[in-house]
Amino acid sequence: MSGKDFRTRLVEEGILIPGGVDGLWGRSGVFERIFDGLDRAITDAGAFARPEVMRFPPAMSQAVFEKSGYMKNFPHFAGTIHCFCGGDAAHHQLLGKMQRGEEWREQQQPSDLVLTPAACYAVYPVLARRGPIATGGHLVDVQSFCFRHEPSPEPTRFQFFRMREFVSIGTHDEVMAFRQDWIERGSAFATSLGLPFEVDVANDPFFGRAGKLMADSQRSQNLKFELLVPVNDDAGPTACISFNYHTTYFGDIWEMRTPDGAPAHTACCAFGMERLVLALLKHHGFDIDSWPSAVRNILHL
Ligand code: ATP
Ligand code: ZN
Repeated sequence: MSGKDFRTRLVEEGILIPGGVDGLWGRSGVFERIFDGLDRAITDAGAFARPEVMRFPPAMSQAVFEKSGYMKNFPHFAGTIHCFCGGDAAHHQLLGKMQRGEEWREQQQPSDLVLTPAACYAVYPVLARRGPIATGGHLVDVQSFCFRHEPSPEPTRFQFFRMREFVSIGTHDEVMAFRQDWIERGSAFATSLGLPFEVDVANDPFFGRAGKLMADSQRSQNLKFELLVPVNDDAGPTACISFNYHTTYFGDIWEMRTPDGAPAHTACCAFGMERLVLALLKHHGFDIDSWPSAVRNILHL
């Protein structure tokens, strides 16, 4: 079966609904049933640590987005929200352009919203406003729809996808212990779901010429690991969970401090929800009822 075949089958079975643009997908009831099960299973896996739960809309304020530094490293992925703010005359003009098949979007004005590129970005300013991080560190469970402008025919590369993360904020030792623990927990989770995988060092797709250096440096410092599952045939395995250590990058930006006044370190364990659903469909088939009962139990299916 080729990668295209997996995609074709997903579409033919109605599990993925093409949105008319590469990477823009609707999802069926079967897909969402698996998604919901996965969401609950991740909650179960993290319950022992009693994380603080935060849920955010798929957009963040321009101010928070700018301060996060995303445009420095990933300008090619970002999506900004523009809206119509004119009066009757401008509206008339716009409809005319649309009718004539002309470009009408240049009349749209920037709003103060930007599409969220990663779920954990919304967490840091919230914690920073509260004052110093508690002794022992803090753990947040966050989920958000994320946007990345990376159109691709691969069914595992969405432009809009849901990212569920456990985010640790604390001292160097606290967040490094968290990350190591979650590399192990994430691996045990994938094993329990019957997914073949490997964990490997990775880098983010930084933009431009300077990006190459950033990527090399990220790798040589072991800042990012990925849990990779073969999903697309005729292609390398797909990153389904990421384990990131950000050093004091966000602590410095947001002036998040540990109790001794030092900048906080942060790390996150990010689950790519759609990719995990597709990995389960790939390895256990499209008929949920015939999946191994151990897997169905974990997913509450
Ligand atoms: P990749 O290397 O495949 O581009 P990434 O390293 O950019 O992924 P992260 O920034 O670490 O991914 O995002 C966290 C998780 O979100 C990833 O492990 C992955 O499971 C998921 N993810 C990232 N990009 C996409 C996408 N375009 N479509 C679906 N899921 C994604
Ligand atoms: Zn993160």
